[in-house]
Amino acid sequence: MAISIHPSVDGGVKPGTASFGGGTLTCKCSSSPVTVSLAANVAFDHVCGCSKCWKPEGALFSLIAVVPRDKLSVTANGQKLKIVDTNAPIQRYACTGCGVHMYGRIENKNHPFHGFDFVHPERFKEQGWAAPEFAAFVSSIIEGGFPPARMGEVRSRLKQLGLEPYDCLSPGLMDAIATHAAKAKGVLAA
Ligand SMILES: [Zn+2]
Ligand SMILES: [Zn+2]
Repeated sequence: MAISIHPSVDGGVKPGTASFGGGTLTCKCSSSPVTVSLAANVAFDHVCGCSKCWKPEGALFSLIAVVPRDKLSVTANGQKLKIVDTNAPIQRYACTGCGVHMYGRIENKNHPFHGFDFVHPERFKEQGWAAPEFAAFVSSIIEGGFPPARMGEVRSRLKQLGLEPYDCLSPGLMDAIATHAAKAKGVLAA
C-alpha cells in the first residue's frame, strides 16, 4: 500500500504563486467557523512528523509553516479557541468545535523563533501559498505508532515528492537556532 504523507502533498507538491500575499485560514466547523487572516505569505512551509502539530484525519504528517506574528489576526469566532497546552513553548490555539489548530504562538522572547506564528497552510481558503520544502521530525512518526520497519518507505516517498527528510528541522533552521544560542552566549557577535 502506498504511503500517505498528507492529503496536500500525496498527489504531488503544488508550487506556490510568487505574488501570493496572504489570505484566510478557516477551521472545519460547518457553523460559526473560526477564521484567521494572514497579511503575508507563509515561509518555511514543511511537513512535520512530530506528535504536537495538528494533523488531518489519517495523515502521517502535518503541514506547517510560519508567518510574522504581526501579520496574523483572528477575524471570526475567536471565542472558540483554546490553548492546547499552556506549558508548551508553542501555544497552539485549537478550535474547541472541530479540533483544528488555527495558530501556534511563542511568548518567550528568548526563543529562537519568537516573532513567528505557526499555521497550517492547507486551511487557507485561497490557493497559491508557498509550497512545502522539506520534511521535519520524520523519525517522530514512530512515536505516533508507525512501524519502524517501514521508515525506509516513508523516507523514499518523501524524497520522491522532493521533500528532503530530516529527523530534526532543516539545516537552515537548525543553523538559525544554533546562531541564536551562540549570540545569546556571546561566542558569536550579535
Ligand atoms: Zn472549528
Ligand atoms: Zn510538528
